[in-house]
Amino acid sequence: MTAPARPATSEDLIKAEEPVLAHNYHPLPVVVAEAEGAWVEDVEGRRYLDLLAGYSALNFGHRHPALVEAAHRQLDRLTLTSRAFHNDRLAGFAERLAALIGLDMVLPMNTGAEAVESGIKLARKWAYDVKGVPADRATIVVAADNFHGRTTTIVSFSTDESARAGFGPFTPGFKVVPYNDLAALEAAVDETTAAVLIEPIQGEAGVVIPDDGYLTGVRELTRRAGCLFVADEIQSGLGRTGRTLAVDHEGVVPDVVLLGKALGGGIVPVSAVVARREVMGVLHPGEHGSTFGGNPLAAAVGTAVVELLETGEFQRRAADLGEVLRDGLTGLVGRGVTGFRARGLWAGVDVDPALGTGREISELLMREGVLVKDTHGSTIRIAPPLTITADELRGALGSLEKVLRAAE
Ligand SMILES: *Cc1c(COP(=O)(O)O)cnc(C)c1O
Repeated sequence: MTAPARPATSEDLIKAEEPVLAHNYHPLPVVVAEAEGAWVEDVEGRRYLDLLAGYSALNFGHRHPALVEAAHRQLDRLTLTSRAFHNDRLAGFAERLAALIGLDMVLPMNTGAEAVESGIKLARKWAYDVKGVPADRATIVVAADNFHGRTTTIVSFSTDESARAGFGPFTPGFKVVPYNDLAALEAAVDETTAAVLIEPIQGEAGVVIPDDGYLTGVRELTRRAGCLFVADEIQSGLGRTGRTLAVDHEGVVPDVVLLGKALGGGIVPVSAVVARREVMGVLHPGEHGSTFGGNPLAAAVGTAVVELLETGEFQRRAADLGEVLRDGLTGLVGRGVTGFRARGLWAGVDVDPALGTGREISELLMREGVLVKDTHGSTIRIAPPLTITADELRGALGSLEKVLRAAE
């Protein structure tokens, strides 16, 4: 008789990945098997508070009941048609999403990078068809230290060498200017400019928040120059900062808003380009598309996400809990934290490099049952599900304090 197979341990599973899985990530050594709300559980049954929330793809927590229910209901009816046919979920999704964002039309895609690519194509087409830029001369102005995804065109205008090196030749037509610098933007914009493409808050760069007035300035400048303002709200949008969009903090309405991550409720990849009618109107049949974009399962989950945001509850939670987060981090400045940037339930925390790298701090926090992700150097990012409670958040901040004190 053979012994019953021993269930695989975290260690086994991590080792098993090594020979068969591309090494394009360096995950923390935790193997998640189950999750609910703000908590995940590993294969040994250890519980962790998730302060990364899938890079904000899990704004509503793991397996939010309303989202899981919408997915189950749709799984039992219809999952995919392709856009060769209509499906009965798409109109409602587009209508409600456009209304939530305050723009007119929706181009449904799947991943964030696809939304960015689609936004770039849309801006270029608009530049040729409406603005009258000579063929193949359109430029798009972007910001240094951006993160817009991983396709060859998108890494073409990244300033992060590890994202670019070895992946050329690159797509032309992009100009990079410093972030949060209106004068540099003004100097870069000319008659060939199709769009200015920026993140209203730079997430991957370490939650870098521009000065008050920057987004208003970008809006005014692009309007004056006759080019589009394309806001990549893939990480900053959908409640994270305490408002529906990060641009809402300045009451600014871009011409094009790119959404992804939380739009899929942590269940399926859903992204979208949301734009003014005159802009989206430049696309005609055959000019752009996606087999899975706008599929009924995605539309059903996306609609349920929009319904959650329509209540305003999650935006309010993010704003209120943001105060708890800010208070906690303020108390750590000078005690292992050299500085932080926060808006809503989102913070980039600079740890004193003498205490360790962001990665080392993340590993120590993991042992305390708190999951975070480092970004550059000694910065860690905190972006819990918006469903986390104030006590859970205070507990996690207590763990950070403990880890920093132990590292001293
Ligand atoms: C994550 C992200 C993307 C890319 O999204 P993917 O779904 O990973 O392709 C684009 N822009 C921003 C601001 C992001 O945070």
